[in-house]
Amino acid sequence: QLAYVDGQYLPMAEAMVPVEDRGLQFADSIYEVAAIFDGRLLDWPEHLVRMRRNCAALFISLPQSDAVLSHIARRLIAMARVRDAIIYIQVTRGTARRDHVFAPGLRPRLIMTVRRFDFRQRIPQQAKGVGVTTVPDQRWGRVDIKSTGLLANVLAKQDARAAGSFEAWFTGPDGTVREGGSTNAYIVRGGTLITHPLSAHILPGIARQSLLSLARGAQIPVEERAFHLDEALGADEALLTSTTAPILPVVRIDGLAVGSGRPGPITARLVELVHAEIARQTGW
Ligand code: PLP
Repeated sequence: QLAYVDGQYLPMAEAMVPVEDRGLQFADSIYEVAAIFDGRLLDWPEHLVRMRRNCAALFISLPQSDAVLSHIARRLIAMARVRDAIIYIQVTRGTARRDHVFAPGLRPRLIMTVRRFDFRQRIPQQAKGVGVTTVPDQRWGRVDIKSTGLLANVLAKQDARAAGSFEAWFTGPDGTVREGGSTNAYIVRGGTLITHPLSAHILPGIARQSLLSLARGAQIPVEERAFHLDEALGADEALLTSTTAPILPVVRIDGLAVGSGRPGPITARLVELVHAEIARQTGW
């Protein structure tokens, strides 16, 4: 469990940032989470692309090249001697005297941490499916930016967990299901995989991008369109994806069974495709 901060590789407990870091004071920072299977990064180029897009959206110019970022990540993974793990990357605008307005020329702070993660804990969850609880989306208007301003997500997921659910599903004012607290949301109807289109209301998940491409490649029809909670409750199947939960069937929404109340055939096929893709990239 190692960290990289300001050019140094340190044990997690020794890695520190200054109290006037703008990430701490304003959540003026972006982050990225990538999965490591058997020591190898999954979808790493896609994570780098998204991270640069997020930095640009906040006018943070990250000085490190992709090659340097990859070198730091791989060195951290090697030093931590992990097989299955999560790498967390955060870029803050840097340290400055507290002022909402940011001065030009601040030096962004790059942080990376690596922790072991047991992806095999997902296998029984994939077999049984998980429940979700819906919550009104009270986040800001640009949740497509992966910023560390996650308070609404934290509270929503806490509520969901207290209700015995694995995840919270954010619903818009019109009752459409947007995404989960830290996952993307899908339903299956008549054999078609349906998920909210990319917009300012959802995070463009890397696992989402990968799943849609795998589904299309396997001739499973995909529709990127908004769907209402009522449509989800009447769906044949539901599921979620993220880096830490690559794919999980959703079998209950607010305590009500989806379809048969058990993982369905399209989800089972998608689970196979996702596992095959992880194996192809990492040998896991
Ligand atoms: N939606 C939200 C709000 C998230 O925080 C996350 C990941 O943390 C996702 C979706 C899934 O994104 P990814 O597949 O890149 O992990």
